[in-house]
Amino acid sequence: MSAQSNEQPETPTRDQKPAMTPNWERRAIIDLANVRENVKRVSELVAPAKIMAVVKADGYGHGAVAVGRAALQAGATWLGCAHVTEALKLREAGLNAPLLAWLHTEGTPFEDAIAANIDIAVSGWELDYVARAAEAAAQPARVHLKIDTGLGRNGSTPADWDALLGRASSYQEEGLMRIVGVFSHLAVADEPERPETDEQLTAFNEAVALAEDAGFDLEVRHIANTPAILSRPDAHYDMVRLGLGLYGLSPFENESPESFGLRPAMRLVSRVANVKRVPAGQGVGYGLRYHTTEDTYLGLVPMGYADGIPRGANNAPVSINGKIYRVRGSIAMDQFVVDLGPDVDVEELLGSEVVLFGDGGPQVTEWADAAGTINYEIVTRISPRVPRQLVEGTWGESGE
Ligand SMILES: *Cc1c(COP(=O)(O)O)cnc(C)c1O
Repeated sequence: MSAQSNEQPETPTRDQKPAMTPNWERRAIIDLANVRENVKRVSELVAPAKIMAVVKADGYGHGAVAVGRAALQAGATWLGCAHVTEALKLREAGLNAPLLAWLHTEGTPFEDAIAANIDIAVSGWELDYVARAAEAAAQPARVHLKIDTGLGRNGSTPADWDALLGRASSYQEEGLMRIVGVFSHLAVADEPERPETDEQLTAFNEAVALAEDAGFDLEVRHIANTPAILSRPDAHYDMVRLGLGLYGLSPFENESPESFGLRPAMRLVSRVANVKRVPAGQGVGYGLRYHTTEDTYLGLVPMGYADGIPRGANNAPVSINGKIYRVRGSIAMDQFVVDLGPDVDVEELLGSEVVLFGDGGPQVTEWADAAGTINYEIVTRISPRVPRQLVEGTWGESGE
């Protein structure tokens, strides 16, 4: 144990603190009322286009089923996720809205997808697999053809598009599938000044026109992600795919969620697990990469990289009792340390709520900046070790 000054009050024990609910020390509080508000806000921006709520990666770490259900209640009419396995879980949970999955391998359970009425995105090779699966399922597949308009990931190249349309047309005539959508994905819509979004939209219009010329009667044409929802009304088409904005976060570097009327849905909180006085020069954490500059108090927060806190988030902010403190030293697997300064009320601080981000605390982007990443990654990486607590608008007004 480190040196303890005699002038300072004794560190109180846990027994002096009120009883807490289980897992009170680490929680991601998910406000579903905010999810609903975000859907309503986006509806105003995109109507009459439909909203697909993108709930891949367990709803960007918020809980796919709860968020998907809330989004549908608030007016979204579609759900979207990357993998068929993710989509099947939504069906198992009783979510029966139109649902699209767009990232596959040869092992993807296409037959299960068709049987569960899950729409399947096809970029090329999947077409034959889906046709065979439809035959086995004795049910036509619902297919959205994907064109790569510039992102360089999935999707048919414009050069291969004609051939893909031809093959899809044959399968449709055989009754094995219905081509219900054409879609693409944008690369730089979060940087509105760049010219490539215009180029992608031009390429998309051409691909859609070719599909219509090939005789497909498309239900939905879709390309817009959150950045395009917020900055490119000309990209909304029949439907938008709302990911980040559903969770109340902003995709733009210098614009807050609030400037778009969006409300962050995740609040990540913990409790101070220890407070102790240390002398100047005290090393902190593995590698001793931080040394105190004065006699001070260190606070211990029981969250670490196993909880999804990025290990590299040096100096990230947390809020305790309304004051901002900084992460000091290396973040460990289970815990990190903040320097509380020399003037603290130990008794008040021990057990106090620590807000890592969300209402009453720092923004997700402050953690992203500290970790050299983006807000998408910060919320998505919060691990299953952190209990999710679903609430309905209980923060924002009360401030907890
Ligand atoms: C993840 C994803 C989205 C959602 O993007 P946001 O920027 O989070 O809105 C939309 N479409 C596809 C294909 C995606 O993979």
